[in-house]
Amino acid sequence: KLSAAEVIAGWNAPDQVAAAQAHLLSPFESMEKLGQTPDRPLLTRGEGVWLYDEAGRQLLDGPAGMWCTQVGYARPEIAEAIAAQAMTISYSSPWYFLNGPSAALAARIAAVTPGDLNHVFFTTGGSSAVDSALRFMQFYNNVLGRAGKKTILARIDGYHGSSHLTAAVSGRAGNRPNFDLEMETISFLSAPNMFTRPEGMDEAAFCDHLIAELEERIETLGADSIGCFIAEPVLASGGILVPPQGYHQRTLEICRRHDILYISDEVVTGFGRLGHWFASEEVYGITPDIITFAKGVTSGYVPLGGFAISDAVLARIAGEKSKQSFYSNGYTYSGQPVACAAGLASMDIIEGDGLLEHVRDIAPYFQAQLATLADLPLVGDVRGAGLLGCVEIVADRAKGVSTDLDAKLTLRIDRLCYDKGLIVRPIRSMCVMSPALVITREQIDLMVRILRESITEVGIAARAEGLL
Ligand code: PMP
Repeated sequence: KLSAAEVIAGWNAPDQVAAAQAHLLSPFESMEKLGQTPDRPLLTRGEGVWLYDEAGRQLLDGPAGMWCTQVGYARPEIAEAIAAQAMTISYSSPWYFLNGPSAALAARIAAVTPGDLNHVFFTTGGSSAVDSALRFMQFYNNVLGRAGKKTILARIDGYHGSSHLTAAVSGRAGNRPNFDLEMETISFLSAPNMFTRPEGMDEAAFCDHLIAELEERIETLGADSIGCFIAEPVLASGGILVPPQGYHQRTLEICRRHDILYISDEVVTGFGRLGHWFASEEVYGITPDIITFAKGVTSGYVPLGGFAISDAVLARIAGEKSKQSFYSNGYTYSGQPVACAAGLASMDIIEGDGLLEHVRDIAPYFQAQLATLADLPLVGDVRGAGLLGCVEIVADRAKGVSTDLDAKLTLRIDRLCYDKGLIVRPIRSMCVMSPALVITREQIDLMVRILRESITEVGIAARAEGLL
């Protein structure tokens, strides 16, 4: 009988593709394609910012996996920490025991969160982190005897996960069909999308407009019925939407005034993406009540997520104040020691290699280079923050919204970039670039050169076909 390692080493790429075709259900996949040759390339290896596919192609990983491979692929420090922890205590039940790595990682995260966010609850990834935070809000208000204060204010184009509740608070229309999402306690606000803001509004007026909407909504629903506001500091999957100046502080101030918990979903923006451990305070000047995190906490080596919560919030329901405060929410893998050891090793690298400073240093260059693409006729907008960037493909600027043609052209750009050695993996008509934090100037130059060539060539071909 072969071991798992021998099976993996002994398989060739066609075997693996055939097995996937016959047996693997992929996330976010069309059922029409079930049983067909998968249109996802097979990766065989990664190192730093590079990935290698079955054909031996070297690819610059533009999105850093799914915005998660902060320190890059194949760091021996993380592999060694995982192996060492697996051989020490591979698992311990969070119901009955403490383990060193989860305690150490909680302390380490608490030390870099803003304000008094000093307690950390671990989960298995981003969805379970947000789900647990939202369930905490429900629990909290029940314990406080405010059973009616449960409505979640969320935003159109936000993305918060794939559990029942997190999918329901995700406002991206494309993810909603054919699911029975609970909507009774969810209320959507406009996306803070500067690109599609109403005609003639400048940034300040647009911010006023969004703030007025929030105030009106609270007025209409009643503050007594609203439990929390959930917001990504920069909407990621929704299109790298950086809200207008002042938006974060003003929304937080309104929430505080109405005793509405402010949950900042930093699953993407946390762990260095914007040049700081977390973006809430250091980039946008707010101390939320809860910060959710995942992805970059382990640089994607193993699944882990969680939330950090403020002492002030916990104090309201802790100790003698409630006899009913049994928070029966958690997972077999809450504080999984191997995952937490990977988290500690990844944080060590971010710190030891000075990656936060590196991001702060290189991000303006990254943004400036991406911005040079704005002169291409197919590029409608270039925007971003830190090491998060988006090049939006717009065939006809007069349309004002992303069209099917835009998405089709973006897919072609993706294919061409891939052939030239750059992974794009577009979100509809957006080429999102969020590379590993270790990226260099030369690698940014290569990324932008391939994007420029591919967008130009697709534009020429589309014009020749009469599509434009
Ligand atoms: N929140 C945000 C902001 C995300 O971008 C994501 C995933 N892209 C999630 C939550 C869900 O995380 P996961 O896929 O790890 O469950």
